[in-house]
Amino acid sequence: MPAKVISAAVQPFPLVDLKAQYRTIKLDVDAAIQRVMESQHFILGPEVNNFEKEIAAYCGSQFALACASGSDALLLALMALEVGSGDEVVTTPFTFVATAGAIARLGARPVFVDIDLETYNLDPEKVGPAITSRTKAIIPVHLFGMSADMTAIIKTARDCGVAVVEDAAQAIGAVFEGTPVGSIGLCGCFSFFPSKNLGAAGDGGMLTTNDEAFADKLRLLHLHGGRTKYEYELIGMNSRLDALQAAILRVKLRHLNSWTAGRQEKARRYMQLFADRRLDGILGLPQVQSGCNHVYNQFVIRAPRRNELKAFLGDHGVPSEIYYPQPLHLQKAFTYLGYKPGDCPQSERASQEVLALPVFPEMTDDQQNLVVDSIASFYRAC
Ligand SMILES: *Cc1c(COP(=O)(O)O)cnc(C)c1O
Repeated sequence: MPAKVISAAVQPFPLVDLKAQYRTIKLDVDAAIQRVMESQHFILGPEVNNFEKEIAAYCGSQFALACASGSDALLLALMALEVGSGDEVVTTPFTFVATAGAIARLGARPVFVDIDLETYNLDPEKVGPAITSRTKAIIPVHLFGMSADMTAIIKTARDCGVAVVEDAAQAIGAVFEGTPVGSIGLCGCFSFFPSKNLGAAGDGGMLTTNDEAFADKLRLLHLHGGRTKYEYELIGMNSRLDALQAAILRVKLRHLNSWTAGRQEKARRYMQLFADRRLDGILGLPQVQSGCNHVYNQFVIRAPRRNELKAFLGDHGVPSEIYYPQPLHLQKAFTYLGYKPGDCPQSERASQEVLALPVFPEMTDDQQNLVVDSIASFYRAC
């Protein structure tokens, strides 16, 4: 039996401590909610318009359109590209299901391209060979908070005349060679799911683009395809961000840079602690690629005997999660595509080895020491 970790002082804590975050901004958030309640203006309106402008500025894009979720942002982007039956969209199988779900829901075919194991992002070398005459778009995912290697992806897309839709749900604030994610391709899709770096009090999403015609089409599509009430140019949907969410998110956006810096500081400290305990030779630690920063929506390691480690950590009061336990090409929902084990070996290996450790700006040194000490005692015991 591995030795018990001495951790008497650390109370149980979650992977992301949203209550700790709320305590730091409670007055402003509560005032924002109050402001919307007094106005009784819940749909669209100034909170949403202002938030769109603020996100556009933050992401360095000309246009931004708020919608109901990150999943809807992906769907709206593909709808605006008129992706449908007979089309293919190239993406990664090592992502949240929504990325490929948006493609499949429109009747198009997700074409899965394997990842680079060190970055967990699309292997840019493998994207070109996956393009066919039916390819309409490429969706790189900036997984865990670091941009995909966009140089080759953008070049391939240009050469082949296909669009790039960035799934930036986990990466608000990340940059690639100086350009913020979401303004590198034709458009960017963001999520404000509570556990994202900029999290709402519920669901929310955003699209960013520098293409005015595309922005206009997105705006039509998210409001039933109508420019004015009861006149419809396109078949759209109802996907809006609530004014209440916009008001809360506007408060939080003002803190995003300092929260990101806090996440990066925790990541640096993890790296130092792992090196001090000589765990850097055992664990696969996050690699920040040149030209990139990392905003650490997740701090993900690759660990030998991952499942045993996860159970051991749980027994010692250390939360952890597996993102993602099964790559999408092997999920039941996508069996009709005909993929089999071995088709995306790096994604399959990642799904066996990855473990996300707690990382959030309010995390204390004691909490972080407990995580690292527990991992050290697990490997010392074997
Ligand atoms: C969270 C997430 C989404 C979906 O966002 P929702 O707002 O939950 O619909 C899409 N892609 C990735 C990579 C995500 O992490």
